Amino acid sequence: MNTKITIAIDGFSSTGKSTLAKQLAKQLGYIYVDTGAMYRAVAYFAMQNNIITPSGFDKTALVAALPSIQLSFQYNAELGFAEMYLNNENVETQIRTIEVSSYVSKVAEVSEVRAKLVEQQQEIGKNKGIVMDGRDIGTVVFPDAELKIFMTASAETRAQRRFDELQAKGDQVSYEEVLKNVVERDYIDTHREDSPLIIAEDAIEIDNSYLNKQEQFDIVLDLVNEAIKDC
Ligand code: C5P
Repeated sequence: MNTKITIAIDGFSSTGKSTLAKQLAKQLGYIYVDTGAMYRAVAYFAMQNNIITPSGFDKTALVAALPSIQLSFQYNAELGFAEMYLNNENVETQIRTIEVSSYVSKVAEVSEVRAKLVEQQQEIGKNKGIVMDGRDIGTVVFPDAELKIFMTASAETRAQRRFDELQAKGDQVSYEEVLKNVVERDYIDTHREDSPLIIAEDAIEIDNSYLNKQEQFDIVLDLVNEAIKDC
């Protein structure tokens, strides 16, 4: 009954992975890890240090700076999830901007960045009882996860959701800009050499274009219960 499993949630940008992962973690009393936040924090670091700018990306400088990038999650009881810290600074707000979104997939292509972050993710999840979302969780980080979910929805549906979120936060951004970013990130994430976004053989695909949050949660919770029973 108390068996703890590893739940890997992968999928395209803005498919609601983190919403689902947070709901599951809360219901199950599991740890939730948003690996996208880690890549975003590295992209934010690169921006702050002029390593990535509109005119170029100095990959060598980023690799050289990696030892000085310290990432950690600190639980915020009020929000009910762990926030991202970069070198002991809370960067949860800074990493969610469209500017960071426009750079993050380039940073995530760098193998040295991936190796560092994957190692940390494996360490955080080594005792199971974890819901982790990202692009390579079921394929690279936890290939033995007991439950793997792969989430999809049309690019337009995803862009609209992301646009609504950004607007609610007061970000001056157009729907077209958000759609372009979603399509661009899908392309880079699925075409990169190291750990491209692909569906794991044993993942269960969920297209949530026409599912509301509750319907999606109910479907996945049933899958979780089955996976726990099978352990
Ligand atoms: O999940 P989120 O949209 O915040 O992720 C931001 C970006 O970080 C993705 O578009 C992808 O390029 C990268 N990423 C990744 N591997 C992960 C998580 C995120 O490459 N496990």
